[in-house]
Amino acid sequence: MADIIQLLPDHVANQIAAGEVVQRPASVVKELLENAIDANATVIKLIIKDAGKTLVQVIDNGKGMSTTDARLSFERHATSKIRTADDLFHLNTKGFRGEALASIAAIAHVELKTKQEQDEVGNCIVIEGSTIVSQEVVVTPTGTSISVKNLFFNIPARRNFLKSNTVELRHVFDEFHRVALAHPTISFALYNNGSESFNLPISNYRQRIVNIFGNKTNEKLVPVEEVTEVLKISGFVGKPEYSKKSRGEQYFFVNDRFIKSPYLNHAISSAFEGLLKSGNHPSYFLNLAVNPQTIDINIHPTKTEIKFDDEHTLYALLRSAVKHSLGQFNIAPVLDFER
Ligand code: ADP
Ligand code: MG
Repeated sequence: MADIIQLLPDHVANQIAAGEVVQRPASVVKELLENAIDANATVIKLIIKDAGKTLVQVIDNGKGMSTTDARLSFERHATSKIRTADDLFHLNTKGFRGEALASIAAIAHVELKTKQEQDEVGNCIVIEGSTIVSQEVVVTPTGTSISVKNLFFNIPARRNFLKSNTVELRHVFDEFHRVALAHPTISFALYNNGSESFNLPISNYRQRIVNIFGNKTNEKLVPVEEVTEVLKISGFVGKPEYSKKSRGEQYFFVNDRFIKSPYLNHAISSAFEGLLKSGNHPSYFLNLAVNPQTIDINIHPTKTEIKFDDEHTLYALLRSAVKHSLGQFNIAPVLDFER
């Protein structure tokens, strides 16, 4: 009898896990921005170079980490956000898997600087391909700065698979918009190759949308509001003339998380029935607040999919809320001259 099974070393396991969480620079952007939000930051700065291929850096003014936590944060399954499996159904953080930093550090050159409010000095950790290169004491502001350089430096196949800077930048902007839309009460800035792409002050939801998509958006927004015992729907839909041939701005959030749900997106689109020119897609910015016990977010590593207890009721409620808003604003069906 010959035994052939071995436990994979940590750095190999981390690299494999990274394949699920980190597809491209935009995935790093998402994970780092979410960590900054979970740290209660009110000001978050994102700095990228070469569409994030050579640098993704996130600087926050959140609660920072202790010396030990700074080191532990790069371990797999190391998290401050849940303690038991049951906590998954009472989540009020973006993170819970404790995998992002371990994954990112396995496939990039990472520098973490972090300091907690009560400490005089902070820590700087350099980690490359899961190996800690140095840890030293540094003078740094309260909060955290994480730089992720040379993504996929040790996985050439992955690096070569990255698209052009234009395409990767679009993905980065998409993630940035999703996170910034979900959190208008946090200030966000984005710098690309040294120049400012976005500077979003703390604001209300309407103003945040306008700051991202331009002043002309303001007059096109129709508010949607619906509160029942089990959920709250809020946000805006674009007036039908704001619809586009290409997929418009379609943002659907559940408990402040951007979610892809073809089924519920259909509920929203179908409320526009008869109001759009054929082939056009509506724009919407809708938030659903539900009891965390009625959803399961742990079905995909990137957490952009969700399982609802009662999807059919949600469908009906969403559709009627949007219909109601469009009706209230006297938006009548348009005649489709193009047909
Ligand atoms: P998760 O977010 O799922 O807990 P991560 O790997 O993203 O896993 O982060 C591990 C831990 O590191 C977090 O639980 C948190 O305690 C700490 N951490 C990460 N980023 C920050 C940050 N920007 N500020 C403060 N703590 C952080
Ligand atoms: Mg995280």
